[in-house]
Amino acid sequence: MTSQPKSTVEIDHDDPIIRSLADRAPTTWLRPNLPDTEAAFRTMAVDPALMDRAAQRFDRFAPWFAAAFPQEFPKEFPETAQAPGVQQSRGIVESPLVPADAAQIELNDRLGAELPGRLWLKRDDQLPVSGSIKARGGFHEVLEYAEAVAAEHGLDHNDPATYSSDEFRALARTYRIVVGSTGNLGLSIGILSATLGFAASVHMSADAREWKKAKLRDHGVDVVEHEGDFVEAVTAGRAAAEGAERTHFVDDEDSTSLFAGYSVAALRLKEQFAAGGEEVDADHQLVVYLPCGIGGGPGGVTYGLKWIFGDNVHCVFVEPSEAPAMFLGVRTGLHSGIAVQDIGLSGATAADGLAVARPSRFIGPVISPLISGFASVPDDVIKAGVGVLHQTEGIDVEPSATAGLTIPWRALEPANDSSEKPSVEAIPWPLDASTKHLVWLTGGAMVPTDERDRYVTEGLNLRSALGAESEAPRLFCGP
Ligand SMILES: *Cc1c(COP(=O)(O)O)cnc(C)c1O
Repeated sequence: MTSQPKSTVEIDHDDPIIRSLADRAPTTWLRPNLPDTEAAFRTMAVDPALMDRAAQRFDRFAPWFAAAFPQEFPKEFPETAQAPGVQQSRGIVESPLVPADAAQIELNDRLGAELPGRLWLKRDDQLPVSGSIKARGGFHEVLEYAEAVAAEHGLDHNDPATYSSDEFRALARTYRIVVGSTGNLGLSIGILSATLGFAASVHMSADAREWKKAKLRDHGVDVVEHEGDFVEAVTAGRAAAEGAERTHFVDDEDSTSLFAGYSVAALRLKEQFAAGGEEVDADHQLVVYLPCGIGGGPGGVTYGLKWIFGDNVHCVFVEPSEAPAMFLGVRTGLHSGIAVQDIGLSGATAADGLAVARPSRFIGPVISPLISGFASVPDDVIKAGVGVLHQTEGIDVEPSATAGLTIPWRALEPANDSSEKPSVEAIPWPLDASTKHLVWLTGGAMVPTDERDRYVTEGLNLRSALGAESEAPRLFCGP
């Protein structure tokens, strides 16, 4: 038994799901009785044009991206190699969508159950320029700010050429963009800000990898290191930006612009499935497994996916066992009013991109009716996922990226007695050959070779953690 931690927050310690999280057990909570998607959107306080406007902004900036990062968007690609199937001009920041049959076979074997349907991977580890899902949200907010600065000074903010002009760059130098991050958001915001000519400060939590800080300093970004966690880094960033002139703080705890950028992934995914002749409809449902930190990335992607695919898509948020911040926030209904330390967890994890103890103020309250499930995963399983993808698909990613890899198997059979065996009807999606299971790989392309080799070696050695007795997952289905 874990002793009850000191906490000022009211928690229902009889809730078996909270108990399971507090026990650090791999926990899955599926929600078969969500309101239908249309009803959820009707009451949602989100601007319905948000996703399309963000997509148009990325389209407007495509020529600028192609010119600013020629090595990332090579000329010879008619339809870019980054994202086959996406109708685009050069300079669209997008990632490939690929089936993963070899990984599926390997995981069937290791997890002791056949997953019906097909396993797919979304390769956000390959997103151009910053190599993680943060390219979607982070770039969008920087671009929106750049347009606002250009417009304020009477420059043509709709013309991509503006942002390469000496006039804009001279102006941008007098503006500063500030952000707090565990690493990847700082990398995305810092690289893009610096490339546009903005001054940039990135406040890094203790989880941030050294190479991410070094890379930012190479770009001339001011990196401020903190000994505390993500919340401390964000708080310090916010304080530094407050009251400062010509300074924009990117608030990962509460940003609509980040959210809008993430949501665009859904429009592109629809094109990619269609280009491959793959249906997503009532007879071919899609389940998406999203690694979750503060909730902004998976929240924005989920918003977009539900907007596009409605009741035919089901989104599951996946977090490390020691940092299930969104899971806890939604389960208790307290959202950012509760932190994982309130149930005795540490918030510390090898999945540095997911090392967040307290969820977003914005995502849970707004997006919760769209989320079909939550899952927590032990670090060893996350790390082992890196080994499995290397061995079966030749794909090397950072540990945070693989959090969702084993979750499709969680709905198949409860492996122990601690949870009631749910009926098949309690699972929110069909468990048959028609269902697509899409695991979102969220980061990895920029990891330096030596560090990547260490992740792979460790992951290969940990593969026995998959399906091991000590990791028997607990499955809960219900409201
Ligand atoms: C940030 C991040 C996530 C999750 O995004 P949040 O907005 O923090 O929920 C997932 N994977 C990686 C690699 C990340 O960097």
